[in-house]
Amino acid sequence: MASSQMVRMNQGQGETSYARNSSIQNAQQNRMKPLIEAAVVDLCSSINSSTVFPRKMLIADLGCSSGPNALALVSLAVEAIHNHCLQFQQSPPEVCVLLNDLPENDFNAVVKSLVTLRQSNKPLVVTGVTPGSFYERLFTSGSLHLVCSSNSLQWLSKAPEHLTRNQIPAYDIDENARRERLPMVHEAYAQQFRKDFTLFLKLRAKELVSGGRMVVSIIGRPSYVIASRFFHLWEIVAQILSVMTSEGAIDKAKFDSFYIPLYGPSCQELREIIQEEGSFSIREMREHDPKTDYDNTFVTPSRFLNHLRAIFEPIIVEHFGEVMDEFVRTAERRWSVEGSMQDGCARNPRVMLVASLAKA
Ligand code: SAH
Repeated sequence: MASSQMVRMNQGQGETSYARNSSIQNAQQNRMKPLIEAAVVDLCSSINSSTVFPRKMLIADLGCSSGPNALALVSLAVEAIHNHCLQFQQSPPEVCVLLNDLPENDFNAVVKSLVTLRQSNKPLVVTGVTPGSFYERLFTSGSLHLVCSSNSLQWLSKAPEHLTRNQIPAYDIDENARRERLPMVHEAYAQQFRKDFTLFLKLRAKELVSGGRMVVSIIGRPSYVIASRFFHLWEIVAQILSVMTSEGAIDKAKFDSFYIPLYGPSCQELREIIQEEGSFSIREMREHDPKTDYDNTFVTPSRFLNHLRAIFEPIIVEHFGEVMDEFVRTAERRWSVEGSMQDGCARNPRVMLVASLAKA
């Protein structure tokens, strides 16, 4: 069964590493810049008005991964604090930056880059890592000022128990069985997301100072796509693995017990969960089409395959063993038919949902 403990991106600096295949995600992080800047200004001003200008600020990125994106959001926040203080001629607060991901993350690479953040900024910046799941307590109560997170909260704490316990495959090889079961499978994933995201909000509400802010982005489903038709990126992975299963390269029972703990909510679903949980007020929510951030002709089968491998290879290898050579061959064969990769992507349109929240 896939638990969050197996979720990690491809490590290192190699051709299929997350570090070298995350420029699409980085473009999405840049979309968060105005919201992070606004949160910082708000944070400095609101804390300023109630007491004195904050002398210390604690900022965290949850699900930082490794590579250039790990520092992108916290760098934006530090820069925004610096600019705000310059503008109002205030001496900058001391900033503590903490980066979180699961313990299996490539923290070696992250730690080296954290040093550059420390040296290259004018406010005093101390840094650290906080390994652990963001579905558990990570920080002391009332200590955080700003939480950022990009492209991470679509990862669930585990695959839905209703499916794993009852041995219901998430993606049936038989197309009819798959279509029939889809609404139930989707509902199980939706429930798990609701449970996980509610817990996430509760935990962060405990850890944030009063008036603390959170800016998060999640890969989700466009509002116009019917909920039970949406598979996220994992349909493309499951299709390749199902071809390998039909051809005997993978054992069927093994394939049937493979679950990717990933769920893409709609903007409305996210809004409902935040409102129902009640710890945060929504300052702003945006839905953004990631396709406008890159040139589609740039996405060749080999680049797309590296993108998939950077995200899914560890979880595939964990479950199936060394099958990646065959996975690559099968994908290349499948996508050698003109337009078939683009068809797969078009059937699974994704959006980036960005929410800027304030602790109520
Ligand atoms: N923020 C980066 C990386 C996103 S990749 C970017 O925008 O490019 C998603 C990251 O979330 C992975 O590194 C994965 O290990 C992490 N992740 C998934 N579930 C997690 C959990 N429960 N707790 C902490 N990190 C988690």
